[in-house]
This record gives sequence, C-alpha cells and structure tokens, in this order.
Amino acid sequence: EGMTILVTGGAGYIGSHTVRALLRAGHEVAVFDNLSSGHAAALPHGVRLFQADLLNPDAIMQALAETQAEAIIHFAARIEVGESMREPLGYYRNNVLGSLNLLQAMQDTGRRIPLVFSSTAAVYGTTDAVPIPESAPLRPESVYGETKLMTEQMIRAAHAAHGQPYTVLRYFNVCGAAPEADIGEAHASQTHLIELACMTALGKRAKMMVFGDDYPTPDGTCLRDYIHVQDLADAHVLALGALLSGRFDAATYNVGLGQGFSVREVLDTVDQVVGVRLPREVAGRRPGDPPRLVADAARIREELGFAPQFPELRQMVETAWAWHRTHPNGFEF
Ligand code: UDP
Repeated sequence: EGMTILVTGGAGYIGSHTVRALLRAGHEVAVFDNLSSGHAAALPHGVRLFQADLLNPDAIMQALAETQAEAIIHFAARIEVGESMREPLGYYRNNVLGSLNLLQAMQDTGRRIPLVFSSTAAVYGTTDAVPIPESAPLRPESVYGETKLMTEQMIRAAHAAHGQPYTVLRYFNVCGAAPEADIGEAHASQTHLIELACMTALGKRAKMMVFGDDYPTPDGTCLRDYIHVQDLADAHVLALGALLSGRFDAATYNVGLGQGFSVREVLDTVDQVVGVRLPREVAGRRPGDPPRLVADAARIREELGFAPQFPELRQMVETAWAWHRTHPNGFEF
C-alpha cells in the first residue's frame, strides 16, 4: 500500500529520476521544489508539486501537513562548486539554512519522519585514500562541499538528540539518463564531462578540452567513479526501504561502483557511441581536480544489497546520448 514520500528538489536531475523510481516501487510521491533549476516537465503526471522554497518555513510546514509525509528525500540544493566559491553566502543560506528549516519543520510535526539526504563525495576533499571509505577524513575544499557536510552534521546531531532517523548518501560522478530518454540532465551551466561531450557531438561546442594529461594515473588523465542516475535513484529507494522498515535508523553510504574511468576512456566511449571522433585538445589542469576519486562502495552493496543495473560506461554514455540527442535544448521546448 502506498505511502507519501515528500521529495525536495524532485524536479531536478537526480530528483526526477528518483521520483520515478519511487513510483515504480509503489510509493506515492509529492515534490517540493522552487523550480530555480528544476523543471516541472520532468515530473510525471499526478505527482503533486509544491512550488515553494525551503527558505520559507511556513511553506514546508504546509507541505508536511497536507501530505502527512511518511518520509522525506532531500535533494534541493545549489550544486556548483565554482559558483559556490564566488557566492558563498548564497550557498550557505540556500543549502544550510534551507536544510535547517526542513529539519525544524520535521521536528515540529511531533512525528519522527525518516530522512534520506543527498550528499556528495565533495565532503572528502582531496584524499590519499584509494578507494575512499565512508570513514575517510571529511575535509571539503569547496563551499559547496562544506554546505553538504554542515547539513550532514545537523542531521547527525538531530539523530543524537531526538532520534531523527536518517540515511546520508554520498554520490560520486552521476551521469546517464532514464532509458526512456524523456528525462535527463538539463542544467543551465554545463560542466560535466559526459554532458559536454554530448553537446560537442551535437555541434553546440567546437571541441572537448581534456583538463590535464600529466596526472599520476595510468593514462595521465583523472579517474572518476561514474554511476548511472537510475542506479543512484534505486539506491535512494533501497535506503528509504531500510529506514521505513526500521532496519537502520542512522547510516551513511558512498554511492558509486568502486571503479575508476579516466577522462580519456570516457571520451573514447562517447566517440564510439556517437560514431564520430570528437575534436579534443589537452588543456591545463582544472584547479581543484584530484587525480582520482573512487568510492569504496562495499558498505551499500553489503548492507542494502545495492546492485547496479547499468554498470558499464557504455550504458551510461548511451542513455545520456539518447536523451541529449532527442532534447538538444533540455526541457526548453
Ligand atoms: N573534464 C575534462 N574536460 C571537461 C570537463 C571535465 O577533462 O570539459 C574532466 C575533469 O577535469 C574531471 C573529470 O573530467 O577530471 C570529471 O569532471 P566533471 O566536471 O564531470 O565531474 P567532477 O569530477 O568535477 O565532479
């Protein structure tokens, strides 16, 4: 039987894929999103949208009261590392104060509402750990990573003080799109490798820049742990199920596959999928890029039984390309 899950940021890239995964699993879903970067068109028909801001506590309380939400998945946040360094106060206000308002409103219901929180590998910063376990030191190097860590800490304190049930998921490099190719990544400012390569294949950009080929890695380019967005969405459903069943009431998981692909391997795969050799140029290193970021992903596999359906880089690129090819302007038409 259905339970209503309230998803903040449910109109965004990862949020909209998770809304779909929740519906497939038989949950009822409502979305709380200010549409600052999300798209109403990414929501399935019949999903109620509260178009409102987490900086407005009354709007949160109203959504909780009207939905009687049995659990919350909290995605809503600004997510750009570079922008967070230029506009730090806006990031602290939106991400930290917004999350604080949410936690306060949840507490004020007088009910114990389980929370799944969208965190990031950026909380680790540069680390020598290869792969990175959840117990690695937390030393974010960007304001963005700092806001996610601060939110994790508020959630853990609320757990310690009054039993707030939670699961924190720390994502590695999310990519790909729903196999139906009707939702996908559509950010105003594109910075992600696979998305940029698809834009280049569409002729919207002249060439691909490889940010550094002199790293201490097998082919000299950076290694990242790519995970398909639908697998990530399914990880949220698993985490939610464990919380709702009472199996866990406080857990933190890396969500990655535990394997690293290099920039060169990714671009070679894009070339194969689109059937063209994209022009590439080796540029200098991008400031702040660690040579390798790979998850130790054993905990989520063992404790939640997480088993990715799209583990191949080729599947990730194929689904991303199917979305971008059919929606060259994202949701804007
Ligand atoms: N990258 C690149 N060219 C680009 C965009 C990204 O070489 O146009 C590299 C980037 O330096 C990093 C990897 O691709 O090593 C993944 O970057 P992305 O921005 O997709 O994700 P991040 O790891 O920064 O979260």
